Amino acid sequence: MKKKILVSVDAGETRVAVLEAKGSARAGRGGKKNDDGAADQPKGRSGGRGGGNDNWRVGELYVERRGSRSIVGNIYKGVVDNVLPGMEAAFVDIGLERNGFLHVDEIVTPDGKAVPKRGRGQGRRIDELIKRGQEIVVQVVKDPLKTKGARLSMQLSIAGRYLVYMPQGGGIGVSRRLPDGERSQMRKNLEKLHAASKEEGGYIVRTAAQGAGKEDFEREIAYLHKLHEVLERRSKDADAPSLIFQEADLPIRVLRDVLGSEFDGAEIDDQKQFERVTSFFQRTAPELVDSVEMHSHAEHLFERHGAEEAFRSTLSRRVDLPSGGYLIIDYAEALTVIDINTGSFTGKGKGRLEDTITKVNVEAADEVVRQLRLRDIGGIIVIDFIDMARAKNRDQVLKTLRKALDEDRTKTYVVEVSPLGLVEMTRQNVTDGVREILTTRCPTCDGEGVVRSAETVAIEALRKLRDVATDRADKQAHLIRVNPKVARELMRHDSGLLELEEETGKIFLFEGGDALPIDTFEVAESGDQDEIERRALPFQIDDEVLLTIDEPHMYNPGDAVARVDALVITVTGAAPLVGERKLVRIEEIGRSSGLASLVDGIPEGSGDQDSAEGLESGTRRRGRRGGRRRSRAGSGSNSGQES
Ligand SMILES: [Zn+2]
Repeated sequence: MKKKILVSVDAGETRVAVLEAKGSARAGRGGKKNDDGAADQPKGRSGGRGGGNDNWRVGELYVERRGSRSIVGNIYKGVVDNVLPGMEAAFVDIGLERNGFLHVDEIVTPDGKAVPKRGRGQGRRIDELIKRGQEIVVQVVKDPLKTKGARLSMQLSIAGRYLVYMPQGGGIGVSRRLPDGERSQMRKNLEKLHAASKEEGGYIVRTAAQGAGKEDFEREIAYLHKLHEVLERRSKDADAPSLIFQEADLPIRVLRDVLGSEFDGAEIDDQKQFERVTSFFQRTAPELVDSVEMHSHAEHLFERHGAEEAFRSTLSRRVDLPSGGYLIIDYAEALTVIDINTGSFTGKGKGRLEDTITKVNVEAADEVVRQLRLRDIGGIIVIDFIDMARAKNRDQVLKTLRKALDEDRTKTYVVEVSPLGLVEMTRQNVTDGVREILTTRCPTCDGEGVVRSAETVAIEALRKLRDVATDRADKQAHLIRVNPKVARELMRHDSGLLELEEETGKIFLFEGGDALPIDTFEVAESGDQDEIERRALPFQIDDEVLLTIDEPHMYNPGDAVARVDALVITVTGAAPLVGERKLVRIEEIGRSSGLASLVDGIPEGSGDQDSAEGLESGTRRRGRRGGRRRSRAGSGSNSGQES
């Protein structure tokens, strides 16, 4: 596997895409860069991603918005604001909106040693370790949430490319994801260098150190000690609370996790970011500096490599598979559910069905893992593959899934198959996920995913109208504010409104625009019929108004309609003017419909039975008034616009 990193910077956000392809990297250590000039390759819609002939595809996406940057890794000089022995914790002012939270297990005493983990009834009490008002140096281990402050630790760690340095720690740890053969050698190398450096502290060898040699460690140790020196100086000089060390920004964090042997170059579209990345590599992996390029092509970096498309795809519920099958990804409160569907792909003949299903499931297994990574979905994930009759086929699908998961090496998984054949797994996510950052809860349904239909709201409204009639028995007419879709439902001849009016002797009129939430119901005014009608109807007879001609009239060829909220106004002879804004004179007006004529007169060639619009609506004309007879305005008829 080789990887190419794209970094795109906009005013409001920084985005990073990790492209992946099979094969070995050209920019790996010692290897001279083979300049095949990705930027000169013509771009094919499908094959051209990443340039060259390799089959690059987007594996991971990250986005960081201005103002919502993660502060994990940042080190602050803070002031203890409050010590709570009952919670075995302290709150520390680090200069942010909310105090950080420091648990007793994360406290390091002045002799530089971490406090041993407390067993039941053992260990020291937190109020013996730190005092209110004390200045301490802390690192953020978890970002603040809406109501909670950041989680802090006094056990500091500084990450480089190959190593993590822990100034107050001791010993040497090696990532278990490194190959067994390399691990003991690395430990030996590091122990020697550590002893030679005569510095305090401990180290962890990161997974990204795969392939790194002694000189790489030597250079990195020097770099980390230098960072630590700066940190120490600042923690002495700075006033508390203040930030004294800022964790690297997103592009560097992604880049330092890519193995040297996999790294196949980076392309960056921002000069400042380019300089930051090259300077990081100069200090940590100088052999990689040459493979970082400034994007110079006219086409946007992300568009050019298919990353823009991948970005958009993370927001859709449905993901199509090459065979015609597809995934549906649903986010529930506590888990993510992925359903596999065959779609149009059904294969031919009996017996083929099982093969078809297996093929879709195998494709799906790969795509599921790709989507988990792209979207950085964490927590419990349930996958509902299509049922397969044969155990052999089920095994094949599971094997494909496990193999794909193996390549997602930074994460840990547990995969199990439930008695109902659902594949259940967990995944650790590190980021907020592109989807969380890019989207907000739908304001219309408030996350429910459905809203009550206009019909449902209209039926409820009718019940409320009965109450209004009773509660305001002294008034003759009522103006009700509802969404126009609901008003239209209420004015259908079978809605029950006419019966209610007859029964109660009241008149109901409606007002309100499309911007009103669908479930709006308010009594705007009550009074005499004349008064309310004047108030309810947006126009009076003989008014001249500008209206947008919305669509041809369904039944009257040559005429067109203009909608004003729930009101449908038939404009005589306006069929050729659909889409235009025209001055019309109101001739009749009622609560659901009206009639108007064009002030400038009917345009040439319209109004004939054989006009295009006439033919269009002619098929629907049967059973209603035909020809050019005007429909009467008023409550008795509407203009045939009910759905
Ligand atoms: Zn919604």
